[in-house]
Amino acid sequence: MIDPKDYFDAALLLHGHRCPAMPLGLRAGAAAMNALGVERSGAGTLEAILELGDGHFAHCYADGVQMVTGCTFGKGNIRKLGYGKFGLTLVDRSTGRAVRVVPRTEKQLASKQTVFFTEYRTKGIPPTDVPAEVVQPLIDQVMRAPDEALLRVGPVIEHSVHTKAEDFDSFVCDRCGEMVVARYGRQVGDQRVCIPCQEAIDAAR
Ligand SMILES: [Zn+2]
Ligand SMILES: [Zn+2]
Repeated sequence: MIDPKDYFDAALLLHGHRCPAMPLGLRAGAAAMNALGVERSGAGTLEAILELGDGHFAHCYADGVQMVTGCTFGKGNIRKLGYGKFGLTLVDRSTGRAVRVVPRTEKQLASKQTVFFTEYRTKGIPPTDVPAEVVQPLIDQVMRAPDEALLRVGPVIEHSVHTKAEDFDSFVCDRCGEMVVARYGRQVGDQRVCIPCQEAIDAAR
C-alpha cells in the first residue's frame, strides 16, 4: 500500500505552491497504485495517461500524479490526451493491467464553489498569493477524505503495452554543432542537420 501523505512534502517542493489540485493528483495516483497493487518504481514500469488539456483550472493535478507514481516527464512515462478532463489511467507495463481513476464530479463542483476559486483563482490571483487560511483547509480536506468520497476507482482491466527500446544513436549537427538523436536528423544537400537548422535553411531559401 502506498500512502499519499508520505509524498506530500516532496510534492509541495516539486510543485511550488499550495493548492487543492496537486494533492488531488497525489490521492488519484495512490488510489490507482493501490488498485493495481504496485509499488512506486524508479524504472519505467508504470505509465500514467492523463486526460488533461492545456492551461486550464486544476491542471496542478498532474504534479501530484507525477510525484506519487514516479511517472515523470523526464522518464517519458507520463502523457496527456488533451481531453480537458481529470481521468488518470495508470498502466502496469510489467503485467499489462491498468485502472482508471477519476475525481468525483460532485467534489470537483463543490471545489469550484470555494472562495479559493471564486475570490482568488478565477480573478486571476496566482496560487502563490492566496492566503494560507484560504487554501490549507481545502488541502486538508483532500488529504483526509476517504478514497471513495473523493474518487471513482474503475475496475482493473487489460491494457496493451508498447514499450520502445531506449534509443542511443546520435550525431552532431553539421550546422549548429549540437548533439541530436539520430532519428531526428534531416538531410539537406550533403549536410546532416537538426530540425531547427533544417527549418532555418528552408526559411532562408
Ligand atoms: Zn497548484
Ligand atoms: Zn543544428
